[in-house]
Amino acid sequence: MTFQPHGKHLIAGEWIASDASFASSPAFGPVHRFSSGNAALIERAVRAAEEAFAVFGQTSRESRAAFLETVADEIEARGPQITEIAMQESGLPEARLNGERGRTTGQLRLFASHIRKGDYLDRRHDPALPDRQPLPRPDLRMIQRPIGPVGVFGASNFPLAFSVAGGDTASALAAGCPVVVKGHPAHPGTSELVAEAFHTAIQKTGMPAGVFSLVHGDTHETGIALVTHPLIRAIGFTGSYRGGKALFDLCAARPEPIPFFGELGSINPNFILTEALANRAAALGQAWAASLTMGAGQFCTNPGLVIVQAGAGAEAFINAAKAALEATAAQTMLTDGIAQAYNQGAEKLGAAADTVLSGGAEARKASPVLLRATSAEFLARHALGEEVFGPLGLVVTVTDPAQMLDLARHIEGQLTATLHMDAGDLAQAQTLMPVLERKAGRVLANGWPTGVEVCDAMVHGGPFPASTNFGATSVGTMAIRRFLRPVCYQNLPEGLLPADLLTPNLPTPDLRVGASGA
Ligand code: NAP
Repeated sequence: MTFQPHGKHLIAGEWIASDASFASSPAFGPVHRFSSGNAALIERAVRAAEEAFAVFGQTSRESRAAFLETVADEIEARGPQITEIAMQESGLPEARLNGERGRTTGQLRLFASHIRKGDYLDRRHDPALPDRQPLPRPDLRMIQRPIGPVGVFGASNFPLAFSVAGGDTASALAAGCPVVVKGHPAHPGTSELVAEAFHTAIQKTGMPAGVFSLVHGDTHETGIALVTHPLIRAIGFTGSYRGGKALFDLCAARPEPIPFFGELGSINPNFILTEALANRAAALGQAWAASLTMGAGQFCTNPGLVIVQAGAGAEAFINAAKAALEATAAQTMLTDGIAQAYNQGAEKLGAAADTVLSGGAEARKASPVLLRATSAEFLARHALGEEVFGPLGLVVTVTDPAQMLDLARHIEGQLTATLHMDAGDLAQAQTLMPVLERKAGRVLANGWPTGVEVCDAMVHGGPFPASTNFGATSVGTMAIRRFLRPVCYQNLPEGLLPADLLTPNLPTPDLRVGASGA
């Protein structure tokens, strides 16, 4: 049955309407009205989250795992309705949204199993040494504890996996932190339906109502109120450099600053090394074009930049990419605003580079743009290193491997960096590696960076401006660390210690409780 949104916020178990409203702007299908967020609603949601934290922060790992699994079940129970409204709102195709739903529920279940295992608690124990000279050592135990209410901004480009029930929310809840989501105005109906899944899961598992709230918002007031609320302990964000930086600055300027875990985008450089270029320039050009246009290029890991050595191989690569891009049909973008930003970005970069293939967005449909520049031009024109969200690719030619290395040194922080290499390229790759691993959260060989696996070893982050916190990832189980804080307990009687410090048989490493015979 088709889902009819009622357009309300979900605040601590109640569906609440506000006086002002905004209209959704779907790619196709019916327009719906949604209540607008405001500071008063954020105040209510955050207060309820703080109240819920008193209970939720003390819940067992098992009960939180069961809660996350129930949310996943409830999302699946609404699967066809979620896909239908998400297709309308985002313009993304059915298969992509079904896949993204699987990723979202898989992510919730992964965090459930991750906290059941318990090693994320990183328990440490330095037992008392009462006879140590010249001073005795006290008994010291450490464990990671949840930080309190977390604010999450839904991202426009993954209406499920990076939105209401996305990785930020799943990792914060797994840690034991209540979440207040500021819904993205690009997919409010999808957000409402996912919030409904939370609402049911909270009731089924007996969690405190304030553990999850969704406040819709189409004005900055709502987001600003969330990041500046004194009871909010951290923020998870994926979106533009401009929006993210503004919110990051607000977090830093608070009387009590809080961490802002922002993922602000990247141009994801691809270095094609000498032998790989000689052996398979045309195939690489075609494969790049396919990756660049996937999902209309609306991925933070979109491979926007290729660096190759000038010559016949570079020309073969560019010609093959151009032919493949020309044959790619225009695709619907997520929002009118993103389509406009794509046009503006293409114009700005187009003015700084040579155009190989002109394109852009007409209405909400984007066609690819291909540009080229020399290394000297890239280094001199900062705009060429800026992210253009959409199917825009820039090829930068270098004169030799030394210039490629120099260019790598000048690139800003990235989510990913990719090497395309054959066996004879190992030495060149070895010279690039120490530079690339300082620049990117993930370094790949012979692949394309789109497609971010949700697993233990994943890092989806990187030095600024790729993210605002290079020690963190927003994808994979390590994402939980963002919402934990180490606490040391000195000489406390057992009755005052968190239950997780006393649980026997947790698979913690060398420093596990009692390991040294205390
Ligand atoms: P956005 O403009 O950064 O907005 C993301 C969220 O932040 C929205 O909820 C927005 O809410 C809020 N926001 C933005 N600026 C704000 C400010 N100054 N104060 C308070 N809140 C603010 O991103 P978007 O709407 O998703 O897309 C716009 C552009 O972002 C794209 O063209 C693309 O360049 C980039 N983007 C990048 C990625 C990535 O993965 N790197 C993903 C998506 C988008 P309100 O507008 O309701 O205030």
